[in-house]
Amino acid sequence: MNFEDLIQDIYHKIKTIEDPGEMASYIPELSKVDPTNFGVHISTINNINFGIGNYNDKFSIQSIAKVLALILAYRIVGDEIWNRVGVEPSGTAFNSLVQLESDQGIPRNPFLNAGAIVVSDILLSNLKNPKEDFIAFVRSISENKTIQYSNKIAQSEKKVGYRNVALCNFIKSFGRIENEPSDVLDFYYDLCSLEMSCKELSELFLFLANNGNDIKSNKSVLSESQSKRINALMQTCGFYDESGEFAFKVGLPGKSGVGGGIIAIHPDQYAIAVWSPKLNKKGNSHKGMKFLEEFTTRSELSIF
Ligand code: GLN
Repeated sequence: MNFEDLIQDIYHKIKTIEDPGEMASYIPELSKVDPTNFGVHISTINNINFGIGNYNDKFSIQSIAKVLALILAYRIVGDEIWNRVGVEPSGTAFNSLVQLESDQGIPRNPFLNAGAIVVSDILLSNLKNPKEDFIAFVRSISENKTIQYSNKIAQSEKKVGYRNVALCNFIKSFGRIENEPSDVLDFYYDLCSLEMSCKELSELFLFLANNGNDIKSNKSVLSESQSKRINALMQTCGFYDESGEFAFKVGLPGKSGVGGGIIAIHPDQYAIAVWSPKLNKKGNSHKGMKFLEEFTTRSELSIF
């Protein structure tokens, strides 16, 4: 498969289509990003690395960081994590509160804001210096010391984070948050503010295409079974109430963020990252979804 030609071809086609999406302006700092940015980067387990467009520009990875938080918490507490957060798709928006009442403060899955807030609480309880330890973990699995939080973006989100405050307090009211809600949220905003490029994202996530093992060092980031489970969750819950549609049209485990990034994994093949900041109604990158749909359709490579 000549990924380079295919990616170039699809990239140029999707670049010119009209984009009805909107920027994630609910986080004021994110609306300052140039909406015409569009980048793609693929990293394969056979060591093909190819990028096009703004693939080297860093952007706010937002909810893609929820996967990294989950991975670190899973490594630390193991299967106990599933007592605090479920593994079912919710069919609701990423910031929804509705199911928490009937589910007694147990979020349906770790990729909803509610779920990632619980994962943040777990990390806060288990790490000595959560902010420093988390970024050290991300840097260690990516072997990239340039990865940083954006304090500007974290502060911008904190100022208007009323829904996340509500989610965290609501979960705490069921006795299911151990730490102070303001500390949990500060950490949650920090992790959402991580900035990475498509190239960095596809390189970092490649271990999930390689049974949990780092490609270069062959070190285990997750066991094979844990890696399968993270991929399964990305497949079923990675796009909130558009997860079914992503499986239907793209057919890969993946995760989106409101910064307009998407990471998708083809087990045993590759990790691919796409960035285009304008979002569809479900909060997922409009062009990113279109690009990946065409990529898996024309390459005839998906997990189905
Ligand atoms: N930080 C964002 C929020 O809490 C993450 C949402 C997302 O990327 N879907 O709203």
